[in-house]
Amino acid sequence: MPEPRTVATHCPYCALQCGTRLTRERAGVTVTPTDFPVNRGGLCQKGWTAASLLDTSDRLRHPMVRRDGKLVATDWDTALETVASGLQRLRTEHGADAVGVFGGGGLTNEKAYLLGKFARVALGTSQIDYNGRFCMSSAAAAGTAAFGLDRGLPFPVTDLGGANVVLLAGANPAETMPPLMQHFTRPDLIVIDPRRTATAERAALHLRPAPGTDLALALGLLHIAVVDGWADDDYIRHRTAGFDATWQRAMMWWPERVERVTGVPVTAQRAAVRMLARAERAYVLTGRGAEQHSKGTDTVAGFINLALALGRPGRDGSGYGCLTGQGNGQGGREHGQKADQLPGYRSITDESARDHVSEVWGVLPGTLPGPGRSAYELLDSLGTPDGPRALLVFGSNPAVSAPHAGHITARLSSLDLLVVADFVPSETARMADVVLPVTQWAEEDGTMTSLEGRVLRRRRLQDPPGHARSDLEVLHGLARRLGEPGHRYPTAPREVFDELRRASAGGKADYSGISYERLDTGAALHWPCPAAGPGGDEHPGTPRLFLDGFAHQDGKARFAEVDYRDPAEDVCAEFPLRATTGRVLAQYQSGAQTRRVHDLNAAAWEVFVEIHPDTAERAGLAEGELAVVTSQRGSTVARVRLAETMRTDTVFLPFHFPGDGRANLLTNPELDPRSRMPEFKVAAVRIAPHAPR
Ligand code: SF4
Repeated sequence: MPEPRTVATHCPYCALQCGTRLTRERAGVTVTPTDFPVNRGGLCQKGWTAASLLDTSDRLRHPMVRRDGKLVATDWDTALETVASGLQRLRTEHGADAVGVFGGGGLTNEKAYLLGKFARVALGTSQIDYNGRFCMSSAAAAGTAAFGLDRGLPFPVTDLGGANVVLLAGANPAETMPPLMQHFTRPDLIVIDPRRTATAERAALHLRPAPGTDLALALGLLHIAVVDGWADDDYIRHRTAGFDATWQRAMMWWPERVERVTGVPVTAQRAAVRMLARAERAYVLTGRGAEQHSKGTDTVAGFINLALALGRPGRDGSGYGCLTGQGNGQGGREHGQKADQLPGYRSITDESARDHVSEVWGVLPGTLPGPGRSAYELLDSLGTPDGPRALLVFGSNPAVSAPHAGHITARLSSLDLLVVADFVPSETARMADVVLPVTQWAEEDGTMTSLEGRVLRRRRLQDPPGHARSDLEVLHGLARRLGEPGHRYPTAPREVFDELRRASAGGKADYSGISYERLDTGAALHWPCPAAGPGGDEHPGTPRLFLDGFAHQDGKARFAEVDYRDPAEDVCAEFPLRATTGRVLAQYQSGAQTRRVHDLNAAAWEVFVEIHPDTAERAGLAEGELAVVTSQRGSTVARVRLAETMRTDTVFLPFHFPGDGRANLLTNPELDPRSRMPEFKVAAVRIAPHAPR
């Protein structure tokens, strides 16, 4: 029996990264919340039950290889040799890009960093991207264009509590990150969401645009702000550029036209602008509902335009931010597991960035591959003549979470070699040729970066069960078998973090002044945090960005010239409804983790389709029956849940469930031209009873 022990760490799930204390006693591990600023002693149901993840009954304990069609337990040497020899053969026969790597937004900073280095140096492949592409990439693209720098919230979460008004566009924190709601007790909320969500229930004003029309609404709100005289002309003149071109578009979006396209009444549009404009302190926040569209970047830009016109970003107590979703969705996009980026949030096509990172990695600059395919394009290319023939998956479950999931499952099946590193047998792991059992949150040290850009320590409470190993050890073992020097792939998280600091130095996301030692003293360090601060002292980190100017060279924010376009796929006689997807309180992402926690699964155990009673009646459906929801790409079987609050033209499905309950069997992989975000949030569907009554 291991010794009792307590560590301070953070929840394994979402980007709020609530502070927790883990205590191991004879009876098992317990989780208690700490008074960390974002959660202030609160946790959601997922956080409270997180210890159950540690001893889930089907926890992966041994490496496995597929023999005669079945996964069988083996030892690490055999598993790693099988992977390395398979990769080597494919690289020799087809070139370095025959191997792809798919990472995850839940990996620690250390894992994300080493995975990017492993892909580009040990494998020499350009084919690496991660599931965060499906999460925050539109907000990142729009934020970078507007402000010169993307950090989910460019201010601490606690600043939100001082606001008078907060506009939430496509975000439902009452279900996705409930402890955040305690920061919204003072502000009046304006919620933009087609559904009457738990967050919308608490709003002073709820606007319900048809799915896929948020950009028209954002343009219309900007129109009203300008025409009704709410715009901050002085701020626009001195702190921004590009307003005139933006206005040329927005002037065409008068309120009545916006009402026709979105369904949001003119009175509600005017009320929203009035509330935002009159507030002394106000924030505009976006979530996946606004971002997961083939025009997601433009939609976020539309809301940033509104915030800029009202003079909010870069002011103390006001601003724009994105509520990043995955646990390390922020850090995951900064350290090089994204197809187009190197550590420090640098562009992979920037020659000086390539020189700097090459030097830290000890390789010649010319040997680093260029940008690869984005997440969906990478998955879509698997097993094709031009695409990878092997894929290494770390911390992701694309068989459930990718759009057009039936097609992606077929592509995964077509590979010569699928390798999955995970701690549970996810749906993707069950398809693999080799499964590598790895550590999870309470079994490892490392760092995570929360939605407010604060770097946090994840601390190890106990050893992993069986033969599970850290992902860092897996990468080290594979790299050595591929002929790389072992010292290039350290296995100690602190050592990897120290190298990450050097690689990030001088980049946008500069971590060089952050160390385990400083974090362990409880220092609140938000990046950028260069090695030296003013006067040569330790840098205090940067909790609030843009107060003295935006990150563009002239210090000005940029308005974006955006215009509305319809969803990539519109309703028609065959598919007359719009399906949208999202989360429920008790589940997280693909559900690979939370479906294994008894209390969470008891609260939400199957996929449902939320539908207005009139729409259901027309389709011959009643509460509790099974329905088949069908799009051009596939069908999902879901339990009917009637909701008077639904729009009659829309149905909603949560995306956490496997098999023929996968909501992503329906979703449209049409991509945003800039962020490469798929159109998760709107697909044309029809609905019918599952079996004749
Ligand atoms: Fe964990 Fe997020 Fe819930 Fe906090 S809000 S307890 S970080 S899942």
